Amino acid sequence: MRSDTPCKIWTGALDSHGYAMQGHTRVAREVLEKKQGYPIKEGLECCHHCDTPACIEAEHLFAGTHGQNIRDAVAKGRMKSNWPHPEKTHCLRGHALVSANIYIHLGKRHCRECRKIRDRELRERRRHAQP
Ligand SMILES: [Zn+2]
Ligand SMILES: [Zn+2]
Repeated sequence: MRSDTPCKIWTGALDSHGYAMQGHTRVAREVLEKKQGYPIKEGLECCHHCDTPACIEAEHLFAGTHGQNIRDAVAKGRMKSNWPHPEKTHCLRGHALVSANIYIHLGKRHCRECRKIRDRELRERRRHAQP
């Protein structure tokens, strides 16, 4: 959904994520609740169509889940996926890249099985290197 209404940028305090704050309340959340006439449901967040956390224009706000918020952000390119090839399901050696088999290092996914293999090779090499 696109809106022609310009952003209404909050000039007061912002929190560490750039959201408009009044005391301990997120202003956008209040604005949205006033607009829809009832509180944002449990589990939902106040999201921005315009991608501007400091914006408090009611037209730009919608209640969505955190997941939606992230997908929305990824779709708009605000947030890059955590790893270079999210579509990859298997490593070079063919091990499945499932959560049980991956670890994150420097923002990239790595295969635990492959690490085990590398560790073993390294140990072997060290042993053979012994005089
Ligand atoms: Zn806006
Ligand atoms: Zn592997």
